[in-house]
Amino acid sequence: MMRAEIIAIGSELTNGEKLDTNSQWLSTELASVGISTYFHTTIADHLNELVDQLRLSTQRSDLVLITGGLGPTLDDLTRQAMAELTGAELVLDENSLQIIESMFQKRYREMPASNRIQAMFPQGSESIQNLHGTAPGIWMEVPRADSKAACCIAAMPGVPSEMKPMFYQSILPRLSKGTNVIRFARINCFGVGESKTEELLGDITSRGRDPEVGITAHEATITLRIKAIGESVEDCDQKISETYALVHERIGDYIYGYEDEELEHVVGALLNERHQTLATCECGTGGLLSYRLTDVAGSTGWYAGGIISTLQGVSAQQEKSAGDTCALNAAAAISLAKSTREKHASDFALSIVLDVNQSWQDRENIPQAFVALAGEGIELVEEIGLTVNQAIAKSRVTKAALNLLRRHLISSE
Ligand code: AMP
Ligand code: MG
Repeated sequence: MMRAEIIAIGSELTNGEKLDTNSQWLSTELASVGISTYFHTTIADHLNELVDQLRLSTQRSDLVLITGGLGPTLDDLTRQAMAELTGAELVLDENSLQIIESMFQKRYREMPASNRIQAMFPQGSESIQNLHGTAPGIWMEVPRADSKAACCIAAMPGVPSEMKPMFYQSILPRLSKGTNVIRFARINCFGVGESKTEELLGDITSRGRDPEVGITAHEATITLRIKAIGESVEDCDQKISETYALVHERIGDYIYGYEDEELEHVVGALLNERHQTLATCECGTGGLLSYRLTDVAGSTGWYAGGIISTLQGVSAQQEKSAGDTCALNAAAAISLAKSTREKHASDFALSIVLDVNQSWQDRENIPQAFVALAGEGIELVEEIGLTVNQAIAKSRVTKAALNLLRRHLISSE
């Protein structure tokens, strides 16, 4: 199986000004033809470090894709590093020089002397035409010790709009297709933590399993990432569906969707099916619930609208009837859901009460959050445990509200 790695070159990447998006794109492209990527390296524009990196990469990988550092300026050093790696001279390629000169002529400009470097290639390498910019790419095969096959290096421009067509036109056709196909699938869960998920899944997440199952968490959503390797797409899909079944057996209650599906899409589809409507009222989330719902295509069919409010007004009404703030906020959430449902004449209403008056700095006193659901003969309220991580609190509470409704809808199916 072919081992590939990707090197992104440029000081603008290592100093944080720019994000390396090329490596991600290239890895997905390689995966789609059955080539696994083992390393992503991002490296600044320094010649010695580049040469060291190339030495390491060409020894351990069969294919090294490089992006960046092919420009005409002094800080672009990819070609020099490739030449130094093999001890080759940089030689002028007349054909490339003509192509670069003609690109300048077309723009009625004279070619600056510095662009000549872009027509220089390490002896023994091949130039790769760039149809969208001045910098041609470089293809070079580097012999390896221990009778291993040569390592292929493909250097491409850093600019994504030049790199992508070059990859499709000139690099992809050269890659001897991996004998295997790789397929990815995702299962999305809510209401369970990362380590608990791992515990419940047991051997399904063990290393070396086929398909591989990895767990990632993002703003309280847990995603299971499945990677299947097989001889054909059908083979992979079969393996993935077997893993789906096992995962369902173990954590089915927490699964709400697949691939890019979010809770709001699932809730929207369920309401749509039943011709039912939903209204919302939010205190402390700045309208995030409404924002999510209105992101779903066709939401006007089932979303009746919402209110963005504050806690003060609502709790003033409750003060007489309830004692501590916990009961107070739970009661406030229920009364908000009920009044919102009436106001919008909807089948359901969700409310959120996130007490943003508390300080997040005080670990002993993390703000409280409640979500409530009102419907015909239905009054549900839930306290949502929050952690010191303020950044995800709004997102977590909003998702918890959606999940409360989702669970109610599927349980009444
Ligand atoms: P270069 O080929 O090094 O002259 O890069 C030209 C431009 O391409 C840079 O200024 C970046 O804006 C962009 N670029 C370079 N490398 C990357 C990368 N790995 N991901 C996304 N953009 C990049
Ligand atoms: Mg650069």
